[in-house]
Amino acid sequence: MKTNEPTLQGCPYDNLTESLCLDINLSKSEKRKAQIHLQQCAICRDKFEELEAIYTHLNEELSKPVSNKVLDLAKKIRSKDTVYGLVVCEPVKKEGEKSLSYKTKVLFTANGTGNNKSKLSDFDFKKLPQDNIAIRAMTDKACDKLLLYLWSSNRYSFEGLELKISDKSQRAVFNSAGVSHLPLMKIEDLGDKVIYFKEKQNNVSASENRFANIISAISAE
Ligand SMILES: [Zn+2]
Repeated sequence: MKTNEPTLQGCPYDNLTESLCLDINLSKSEKRKAQIHLQQCAICRDKFEELEAIYTHLNEELSKPVSNKVLDLAKKIRSKDTVYGLVVCEPVKKEGEKSLSYKTKVLFTANGTGNNKSKLSDFDFKKLPQDNIAIRAMTDKACDKLLLYLWSSNRYSFEGLELKISDKSQRAVFNSAGVSHLPLMKIEDLGDKVIYFKEKQNNVSASENRFANIISAISAE
């Protein structure tokens, strides 16, 4: 049976450690003070390591592609106001080079034109060809954008991937979890189009990553 460890209680700098881990509400000198304290106090070091593990895990979860279950749930919670659907993008093959252009096809929409009973989790995404990219699209009455959630079987991150639709001027740039948006349009209008996916050059993920900032703050100096 596990007992409470007395060593995990009672350091007066407890809150400081957590603030340091969350990277909030600390002035430069407080941050420095917390870093020095961490080097000296085993209790807070243990706590920091514990929090560090949680944030690492959380960060990994947040950067994973959004699951179909989550999107189905979002749809279910606000079923009348939410329109969502699935668009599959198939690469247009060109001889000898990796294609950037894709042909789109709408597999289903719910509460768009025609009321379909399908859910995203009804589709076996693993059966899609490996080079296809799926767009899970969603919008609701409170939102004037079309939200896009990418899925692909052979990518871990969508960071910096850019989407352009051939006959539209707007572009969407995706984060690592494959989330972005376009100005509001019908999901059906994403079908039978030629679209382009290309990698953007600047990779800013490491510097924008809060967890990376915390670690570099701790290990600085
Ligand atoms: Zn301490």
